[in-house]
Amino acid sequence: MLITLTGAMPNAPDLGYLFGKNPAAVFTREFSAGQVWVFYPAVAEDHITIALLTEIDPVGLVRGPAALAQIDQYVNDRPYVASSLTSVAMQTAFSTALAGRCRERPDLLERQVQWTITLPVVACDAGAELITRIFAPLGYNVTATPLALDAAFPQWGASDLLRVTLAGTQTVQAALSHLYVLIPVLDNSKHYYVGPEEAEKLRAHGGAWLAAHPERELIARRYLRYRQALVRTALAGLAEGDPPDTEGAAAGSVAPEEDAPGLHEQRLAAVLAAVCASGATTLADLGCGEGRLLELALREPTLTRIFGMDVSPVALARARRRLHYDTLPAAQQARLQIAQGSLVYRDARLAGFDAAALVEVIEHLDPPRLAALEQVLFAHARPRRVIITTPNREYNTIFAKPERLRHGDHRFEWTRAEGRAWADHITASYPYRYAQRELGPVDATHGAPSQLLIFDRQDD
Ligand code: SAH
Repeated sequence: MLITLTGAMPNAPDLGYLFGKNPAAVFTREFSAGQVWVFYPAVAEDHITIALLTEIDPVGLVRGPAALAQIDQYVNDRPYVASSLTSVAMQTAFSTALAGRCRERPDLLERQVQWTITLPVVACDAGAELITRIFAPLGYNVTATPLALDAAFPQWGASDLLRVTLAGTQTVQAALSHLYVLIPVLDNSKHYYVGPEEAEKLRAHGGAWLAAHPERELIARRYLRYRQALVRTALAGLAEGDPPDTEGAAAGSVAPEEDAPGLHEQRLAAVLAAVCASGATTLADLGCGEGRLLELALREPTLTRIFGMDVSPVALARARRRLHYDTLPAAQQARLQIAQGSLVYRDARLAGFDAAALVEVIEHLDPPRLAALEQVLFAHARPRRVIITTPNREYNTIFAKPERLRHGDHRFEWTRAEGRAWADHITASYPYRYAQRELGPVDATHGAPSQLLIFDRQDD
């Protein structure tokens, strides 16, 4: 997703001070949904163009904290459209400019700049008319052109996506805060939980101009996802210029992933012990995430070949960083390989390992895909030992949330009996035998928080 802002004024490169970004350098930073870059495709005395480019990790959105829970499919439009995630990226890249601060050149803060802002792809369910109603009163000339659903099939008509150009004279802070607040309003599908902090954000970023906007009610309603109580307090706060009264509105905020402290360490240690006990010298960590098991495995001299695979490029980038992959001594690097891949596609790279581990991975797959995983793992990859950990749903009662899954991206959580039923089905279909073990502190009735399934191949 790309946004460009072209600003015209004398000594235009001075705008770099306001954005807090050197026109000669590329800025990049990771944020909750992916990676953001800021760079200047054009720098001249009388105008500059500054570009905000984001790469969103669609998988991360789905399996991330429950805050991103509106999205449940890995294939989604979020990487490509300007949406509420764009605002998160703007906050990451331009927090000082959005707050209207500039230490080096405060004299520039009030400077009016002539802008041409281009948003190549905006998601807007209400079309060009809404975009004009929202931006025109702020002093922009708006051009919004619907994009065809598929250029090769004009008869299919237009999509919900538009190319938008805004031309107008604004300070840097005003232009950024308009985009920050209004892009999510157009998109109308905020990706995160809307609570009192969002009402406060709306007041903080919209305060200066929103109070006078003829469409302020529509903007507040869409920004706050039609949560009436929040909309009322935000609008009242705008009128008075005070922070909104958010008392009582905090109910229903999202809880983080449930897990007992230290349980994950215990899990990783149990998995590694099961790997080593089998005499394995090669290990595939499938769904390796940020590489925590890989890190421990590297310290086991008996493991001569270690392969980490995950479907998420962001997780793999974190794994490489955690393991200092690029600067590992050659001998270590030769032992370790990290690559992207999915467990539901047959993959020749997975063949020939002594052991394979799936640590807290299987519950992230939609149940209809388990049949593919089973083929990939037990028919094609066929490691001598397969070690799987997954939550034991019975234990959720102890977390006092019997009905809730432990993580926003868990597609299921098995009871121990359900874990055994799946394992029975595997051993009935493939030449493996299995054992089930408790993992973590054991409750007499509900068992342990995690279950460990160890499959050993029988046809050697
Ligand atoms: N094993 C790691 C990460 C567990 S989180 C650990 O214990 O720390 C689950 C991981 O499974 C995520 O990193 C997710 O990207 C990955 N995943 C989900 N579906 C996958 C698939 N189809 N193929 C490979 N990895 C997958």
